[in-house]
Amino acid sequence: MESEMRANKLRLEQTEETVRVRDATIARLEKELEEAGIAVLNLEGKVREEETIRRKLHNTVQELKGNIRVFCRVRPPLPAEIEEKKEDVLTHISFEDSDDQVIELKQTSESASGQKMVAKSYPFSFDRVFQPGTKQLAVFDEISQLVQSALDGYNVCIFAYGQTGSGKTFTMEGPTNAAEDSEDLGMIPRAVHQIFDTATKLKEKGWTYDMEAQFLEIYNESIRDLLGSAGAEGKHEIKHHPVTGKTSVTDASTVLVTTPAEVHKVLRKASQNRAVASTNCNERSSRSHSVFTLRLTGTNSLTSETSSGILNLIDLAGSERLSSSGSTGDRLKETQAINKSLSCLGDVIYALANGDKHVPYRNSKLTYLLQGSLGGNSKTLMFVNVSPLAGSFQETLCSLRFATKVNSCQIGTAKKMIK
Ligand code: ADP
Ligand code: MG
Repeated sequence: MESEMRANKLRLEQTEETVRVRDATIARLEKELEEAGIAVLNLEGKVREEETIRRKLHNTVQELKGNIRVFCRVRPPLPAEIEEKKEDVLTHISFEDSDDQVIELKQTSESASGQKMVAKSYPFSFDRVFQPGTKQLAVFDEISQLVQSALDGYNVCIFAYGQTGSGKTFTMEGPTNAAEDSEDLGMIPRAVHQIFDTATKLKEKGWTYDMEAQFLEIYNESIRDLLGSAGAEGKHEIKHHPVTGKTSVTDASTVLVTTPAEVHKVLRKASQNRAVASTNCNERSSRSHSVFTLRLTGTNSLTSETSSGILNLIDLAGSERLSSSGSTGDRLKETQAINKSLSCLGDVIYALANGDKHVPYRNSKLTYLLQGSLGGNSKTLMFVNVSPLAGSFQETLCSLRFATKVNSCQIGTAKKMIK
């Protein structure tokens, strides 16, 4: 019995020892857990701080690149164009392969012996030149940073300028009825996808976003709501809030979008509305400007920061110089409206880049509508779209000259000094 008791006592002591060790371990683990919890809180705080820093740095980079940028895009020849007149395609355009910033137009003349010679060459340089083979994704890569700027609370305008048939609508929207994962999707659907993806990621950092879409058309200096119900055409006036500067258009529909699918629906509706109008007026879309606007309002529940940015994507009316001499009536009015609004857009951007005191926003509906998104801290990107047809030589020359006017007055910005 005694030896049994000794054995039991020994066992009891061993058990007590085990319990002591475990208690110590538990205490240690509890302490570690608490420390880890504090570390997580610190890291989360740091992540938020770093997001704020990232925003500042991102904006600095964008400003260094220039708040006004011009990209030139030459569309590829269409299969039919290649078949019909092979030699007249792209023969007058050359690129410098070492540098994706230069495009050269060459005017040829025939010598007495019938040989073609370059009579005159016109070199142009832009922030980027995209050759005909460039895919939508590669083009979007270059602009995705501006889309990020809109999420960060800046106002952004992206324009497509060029003659009819040069690829403006393809660049902005992509082909009509492109599948949601098509490689031809244009800048608008790609921008929207990026915004939704980024907004989801920013949730971890405390940010939630409200997104509001608007789609307007400016035709003959009057505004049409592409998201309105058919037949219910109101009169639309542009208002700038005297204090906040917020721009609104009376009676224009705005749609709160919460999923990419809803945005696709909005885009489809707009293109149907444009199609309806074009049966009344042949090819109206090439003679009107379309302005797609996304207002992005973010709030951070953890840091109580807020941000509100606007992304405008604009498919401009065809820039071909329609001769007004032969036109009369409606056609003449239409031609004058386009010429005036495009040259006014050039003037506004030129005045901004030049730092002029007076910026003539009021001279056209388009610039008045976009007043709040042009100038100041806003970012402007202009695509100058170019046709590969040699027959378009003169129009291409005009487009490149227009784009150069918009682009060339930035001397003195950091952008030029870095080069
Ligand atoms: P715009 O809007 O300037 O009048 P479009 O975007 O309608 O010109 O382009 C004219 C034609 O060229 C369309 O058939 C379009 O699909 C095609 N196209 C334009 N750009 C490209 C491109 N980068 N790749 C393939 N096809 C293109
Ligand atoms: Mg078009």
